Amino acid sequence: MKITRIQQAHYEQVVTCEDPESGLKAIIAVHDTTLGPALGGLRMWPYASWDDALFDVLRLSKGMTYKSAVAETGLGGGKSVILGNPKTQKSEKLFLAMGKFIDSLGGAYITAEDVGTSPDDMQVVRRATRYVSGLPREMGSSGDPSPWTALGCFRGIVASVEEVFGSPDLKGRTVALQGCGHVGKYLAEHLAKAGARLVLADISADRAAEVAKATGGSVVDASEILSTPCDVLAPCALGAVINDETLPRLKTRIVAGAANNILLREEHGARLKAAGILLAPDYVINAGGIINVSIEFEKGGYDEARSRAKVENIYHALKKVYATSKAHNLPTNEAANHLAQEILAKARAAKQGKAAAGSR
Ligand code: NAD
Repeated sequence: MKITRIQQAHYEQVVTCEDPESGLKAIIAVHDTTLGPALGGLRMWPYASWDDALFDVLRLSKGMTYKSAVAETGLGGGKSVILGNPKTQKSEKLFLAMGKFIDSLGGAYITAEDVGTSPDDMQVVRRATRYVSGLPREMGSSGDPSPWTALGCFRGIVASVEEVFGSPDLKGRTVALQGCGHVGKYLAEHLAKAGARLVLADISADRAAEVAKATGGSVVDASEILSTPCDVLAPCALGAVINDETLPRLKTRIVAGAANNILLREEHGARLKAAGILLAPDYVINAGGIINVSIEFEKGGYDEARSRAKVENIYHALKKVYATSKAHNLPTNEAANHLAQEILAKARAAKQGKAAAGSR
């Protein structure tokens, strides 16, 4: 196994691994551990080159630092990627080698499942390192993150509705929900319970019909959901749904959903603001899953009640973002970055202060 460190400005550690025996080619990026060990998923993707994989892991690990900072998880940001096709190139040897690679960082990086990896893969990684999170509840770990992501998203929608309409009441409000998958179905249940009128869409007609039946919602074709007249548009399927083509078609006052990277480009946040549409920044509203995982690392281990309280706090995290947006006249996505940078700068200053006091 050949492990090589790469110098990368503004990142604490970037390490590549090549292991001919297992076929593993992987990168771990530890962006920032000021607030705690760097937690972020292990993605497996058929990247065309090492450069493409490096670009992705750098971008994603920095995103995790900001997400954890605003969510107050007590964790830093990191991510790892395996260069390979998850449909054809998975093996036990590969994930054991990945576990060894993760272990070589001595706990600076903690992994979890992500795009292209599964809970089963994580259990193989666990045999080679203890720095794995989000394993099944039976193993003392925090389990499936999706219901928690949905709960956080629901609380974020309540905060956003209150911000725009002056009341948190969802009764009679229309929510257009794109994607009835792991997060979407739980989110639909919370919304229906709160009295929202649901319009649902999924490229799988069966999935949309099933959720509509369970929640009393109606179904529209997947091609129509973004232009459905509604109070809240909740994208819970793909990224980049807010772009040059879709923006003029939106008929909503709020965009608030679980999907990662909702904006195609950061500038689309400013364009939503100009159109009078409130955006709940994705990494703030969809942090329920990572908050749930972070409870594993608290004293006493995982505790469901503690997790619920912290996930529900996404309501307040979003309120803070909206207040910052108003105070600095910033689009909400930039306001969230501003908050994250402020939290990190304060924590760095406090650490340096302590270190200076210790050396006196
Ligand atoms: P999922 O794959 O279970 O569900 C996605 C659903 O969207 C599927 O049912 C799929 O058929 C549907 N879909 C795909 N393209 C569509 C389209 N064009 N129109 C309508 N429906 C479409 O994924 P998930 O775990 O529910 O995650 C949803 C989103 O939330 C993703 O962007 C994910 O990155 C993000 N997210 C998830 C979690 C989590 O805990 N699962 C945490 C943070 C962020």
